[in-house]
Amino acid sequence: MTAPTLQRCDACGHELPERDARTSCPACGGLLSLVHAPPAARGAALRALFDERLADAAPAHVADAAGAARASGVWRFRELIAPGVSDAEIVSQPEGNTPLFHRPSVAAWAGVDALLLKHDGFNPTGSFKDRGMTVALTQARRAGARAVACASTGNTSAALAAYASLAGLPGLVLVPGAQQVALGKLAQTLGYGARTLLVRGDFDDCLRLVREGAERLGVYLVNSINPYRIEGQKSVALEILQQLRWDAPDWIVLPAGNLGNTSAVGAALRDAVRLGLIDRAPRVASVQAAGANPFALGFREGFASPRRVKAETVATAIKIGDPASWDRAASVIREFGGVVTEADDAAILEAKAAIDAAGIGCEPASAASVAGVRRLVREGVIRPGERVAAILTGHVLKDPGVLLDYHRAGRDAPLVNAPVEIDATLDGLARAIDAVAS
Ligand SMILES: *Cc1c(COP(=O)(O)O)cnc(C)c1O
Ligand SMILES: [Zn+2]
Repeated sequence: MTAPTLQRCDACGHELPERDARTSCPACGGLLSLVHAPPAARGAALRALFDERLADAAPAHVADAAGAARASGVWRFRELIAPGVSDAEIVSQPEGNTPLFHRPSVAAWAGVDALLLKHDGFNPTGSFKDRGMTVALTQARRAGARAVACASTGNTSAALAAYASLAGLPGLVLVPGAQQVALGKLAQTLGYGARTLLVRGDFDDCLRLVREGAERLGVYLVNSINPYRIEGQKSVALEILQQLRWDAPDWIVLPAGNLGNTSAVGAALRDAVRLGLIDRAPRVASVQAAGANPFALGFREGFASPRRVKAETVATAIKIGDPASWDRAASVIREFGGVVTEADDAAILEAKAAIDAAGIGCEPASAASVAGVRRLVREGVIRPGERVAAILTGHVLKDPGVLLDYHRAGRDAPLVNAPVEIDATLDGLARAIDAVAS
C-alpha cells in the first residue's frame, strides 16, 4: 500500500482513495472503513510514543493547529486514526483527554468494586461526538467540501456546529422537531452557528433524509457512518487503555443507539491487540434503552437479521430505532465476547441520579451504561470483582429539562432533591439549615 490510508467497503471490498468524499460504497451501498498502513512502531515502542506525547501535551498552548493537535487526546493516536494528515490540516479544539473517575457511591450502586467512569462529557461541546468530529471536519477540508451536514439526536449537531465554525465551513443539521432534542444541545447548535432544520419526524427519518440528500446536493455527510468519525471515536478506548497504563480492564461498557461508538470501541481494541499495545482485550457490553432496543433484541436472537423498532425513551441520545452501524457493531460483540443489554427509563434515571449526586453528573443516555452494569452484575454476567470501565458519553447540562422534572417537589424517586422555597428572613434560613445539617 503506497498511500497511508484507503477506504474499503465492509460488504464487497470495493476501494476508494483517502480523499473521496462519498460516505458509502458506490458499488453496493455498504459502509466504508478506513484501512491504514501499519505504523512503523508496535508494542512497547508504540506505547512509549503515545506516552511521550501524553507527557508533552500542553493544553495552555493551543494557539495554532499543531498546538491543538499536541494537546488533543485524539491526535495523540494519529498513527491509528489518520496517519496521512499533516499538523497544518488538523481542525482541533482540542478534545479528548477526559477524566477516568472512581466514585465509590456509584460503584456501590452498580454492585462492582472497581467501576471506572470515563467521562466524555468533559469534551469541548460536552459529548464524545467531538472525538469523531475533529477528524471528520479535518477530512471535510481535505476533501474540498463546500458544506457539511448530519442528522442528529442533538449531540452530533452541537459538535458539527462547533467544528464547522472552527473549520470555516457552513454546517447544516437535521434534528427531530417537536421538542425531541434536549435543550442544551439545541441551544449549543444555534449558538455555534449551524443552520438548524427541525424535521417533522424522528431521528430515523432525519438520517434517511440526509443520507439521500447529502450526496445529491454535494454536501459532506458527517454522521457516524462517515468512516473518519469512527476513526476519531476509537480514541476513547485508546485513552482508557493508556490511563490504565495499558493494563486493560475486564469490561468496557457503553450506551448504544446508532451503534457508531460500539463499532469504534471495537475497532480500537482490534488495533490495540494487533499492534501489541495490550495483551488481552476487554469484553464489550453495549446498553440500550428498553424503549429503543433493536440491537438488544438482535443479540438475543444471535443477530440473525437486523431489527427495527419505533423508539421511545427519556434518553434522547439513544432514541434510535433503526441503527446504521448494525453489522459492524454485531461483529464487535461477537469478536470481544460481548453482550448487549437494556435498561428501562426508571433504571436509567436512577443511575443518573446516583452519578449526578456523586458530583460529576451526566446526561440520561450516558447513565444507561451504569444501569447496564448493575443489570449485568445482577444477572451474573459481570462478576463484582471484575474491573469495569463505563463510558459516560455526555455532560449533565445537556438535558436540564429531564433534571428539573426529576427533582420537582412531590416526585417519588431515589435521590430526589427538590428546591425549597423560604421567606427572605433569618428565621426561614435557620430552619432550612437545621433541616440539612442537623
Ligand atoms: C451519540 C450518543 C450516544 C449513542 O452513540 P451511538 O454511536 O449512536 O451508539 C450515546 N450517548 C450520547 C450522550 C450520545 O451523544
Ligand atoms: Zn460495497
